[in-house]
Amino acid sequence: MFKDKVAVVTGAARGIGKGIALRLAKNGAKVVVNYAGSEAAANEVVETIKAEGGEAYAYKCNVASYTEVEAMMADVVEKYGRIDILVNNAGITKDNLILKMTEQDFEDVIDVNLKGAFNGIKAVTKQMMKQRYGRIINLSSVVGAMGNAGQANYCASKGGVIGLTMSAARELAARNITVNAVAPGFIDTDMTKVLPDNVKEGLLAQIPAKKLGDVADIANAVEFLAKDDSSYITGQVIHVNGGLYM
Ligand code: NAP
Repeated sequence: MFKDKVAVVTGAARGIGKGIALRLAKNGAKVVVNYAGSEAAANEVVETIKAEGGEAYAYKCNVASYTEVEAMMADVVEKYGRIDILVNNAGITKDNLILKMTEQDFEDVIDVNLKGAFNGIKAVTKQMMKQRYGRIINLSSVVGAMGNAGQANYCASKGGVIGLTMSAARELAARNITVNAVAPGFIDTDMTKVLPDNVKEGLLAQIPAKKLGDVADIANAVEFLAKDDSSYITGQVIHVNGGLYM
């Protein structure tokens, strides 16, 4: 499916990013496994891909840094000659009620989740335009569409990702570059493991499917959007949330 395609997945050492990286590699893509702090885990993802006959390498870079992201994409182009698929997956939470949220908490989350996605798009745009080919997939969130008490910074960043996605889609569509978002509901990863039990129970009560989603549920949607023949789908948000938001 992705033979001869080169994919960059940010935050690919753990959780959803790891699931996406493994899925794209399994289908033949050469995968750049970006990480910020989880070096050993990133190397493990690379080893798993290679053990299954795939091609990958790990690259450390903070997506909030414009220059680091630029350097990462330049390195990928030097190594593989192209970038076909970019998955802006890296994300953080720093939850608190607005009453208690610090300016730093707000800025940190916007810097990684929203500016990080911009940095990625900006750094691949010229290359993808030259190729006249690209698939950009940004991770938003159900709460970017619904809001959530205690997550003003995170919801603002994920709502921002939707606006960024639609704008980039409009700018790049004529060059055969699609830009879409996947908005997960509550997925079983480190990010949601930290939620207190009563919060989890409250959430489950609101999810028609009555369960958290799996990493594979998100990898499915990303794989679909990354395919060659999804070329007429752009500027869309695919919600994967067990019916929590519809
Ligand atoms: P996770 O398990 O907490 O993993 C987050 C990943 O992001 C890690 O690989 C981490 O890398 C990376 N990361 C964080 N800051 C980074 C930075 N500055 N530069 C580069 N990488 C950075 O989260 P997840 O649940 O897999 O979430 C993945 C994406 O889906 C996020 O954008 C998240 O907001 C979104 N999402 C998740 C859920 C959910 O329920 N889990 C729901 C909606 C949306 P290191 O480990 O190397 O630091």
